Amino acid sequence: MAHSLVTLLEDVKGGHRLTELEAVSLFKTHDRQVWKIAAAADEVREAKVGDDVTYVRNQNINVTNLCVNTCGFCGYSKKPGDEGIYFHDKAEIQRKAKMAHERRVSEICTVSGLHPDFTAKSYTDVYRWIHEAAPGIHLHASNPMEVAYAARRSHISTVEVLDLMKQAGLGSMCGTAAEILVDEIRQKICREKIMTRDWIRIITEAHGLGIKSTATIMYGHCESYEDQVRHLAILRDIQDETGGFTEFVPLSFIHMNTPLYRQGKARAGATGREDLLMVAIGRLFLDNFANIQVSWVKEGIKLAQLGLIAGANDLGGTMFEESISKGAGAVNTDYLDPAEMQRVAEDVGRPLRRRTTLYEKL
Ligand code: SF4
Repeated sequence: MAHSLVTLLEDVKGGHRLTELEAVSLFKTHDRQVWKIAAAADEVREAKVGDDVTYVRNQNINVTNLCVNTCGFCGYSKKPGDEGIYFHDKAEIQRKAKMAHERRVSEICTVSGLHPDFTAKSYTDVYRWIHEAAPGIHLHASNPMEVAYAARRSHISTVEVLDLMKQAGLGSMCGTAAEILVDEIRQKICREKIMTRDWIRIITEAHGLGIKSTATIMYGHCESYEDQVRHLAILRDIQDETGGFTEFVPLSFIHMNTPLYRQGKARAGATGREDLLMVAIGRLFLDNFANIQVSWVKEGIKLAQLGLIAGANDLGGTMFEESISKGAGAVNTDYLDPAEMQRVAEDVGRPLRRRTTLYEKL
């Protein structure tokens, strides 16, 4: 194995496109060879995007935690009658957007449950309110599930919803709601969510309209390495077709407060080895992605730093409000000072650079 692994990594550095079988074999590495995979990914990162570690100054605005879905991995959503429900109105959303503007963030990201009364207009109203209160801001919002929901509620097509969102100032879309793009797993963890085929269709429609998006994976619950790699292969195929993904963001499952874990249907999240390999294999497998992000919110800053020497080149956002991971039980969620990002980047010999959502350096 040692020899063939070295040969395989040399081939990948030379431009060989990893097959799904090869990628699965890399995920099954349990010994010190993990470091070799990480080192190869780091070399590929260096050759492709250089040494800069990037980040974006951003703020989340959570609109409502009421949601018609009941995803098993979600510790955030509430049902009517639950304690702790919130639903922010125009005044509150604009107050938060103004605050973000004053903090000189370049991106506002909205995150929301699927409110029972939402239509396409509910989403576009929120976008317009934010732009009114924070002129010039880049709005990173919605995801294929929200687009499908808005289309269903408003009796229009998903392309029409995307078009309305774009007109209302949507700058780019969250590549979330992807979870694991294997229907058998989706049936277990998020039965009401759109299925794989629809996620692919809607993200492709968005890219076709010039709306770029991130690409995510939510791993470490009840999926296999084969499922993870199938998911990566789908992302790679879409990127070949559209070039519309700005970056790949691995999201490690935060298990503590989730129904899936409490009911014994999921394991207690990925291990450190798996987190590191997801970044490294993500870099090696997704040869058509420039940027691999490591999420300090999900991983914690120490593991995120190790991700920077395992293929990642981006630390994501400063975030000034984050309720999704906190709801699920994560602890590193509120705000990360760029000074701390700089400290961990420089500690691995790399400069920190601020970027826009679409990766222009500032
Ligand atoms: S993950 Fe999103 S869609 Fe699923 S229950 Fe939570 S808020 Fe609702």
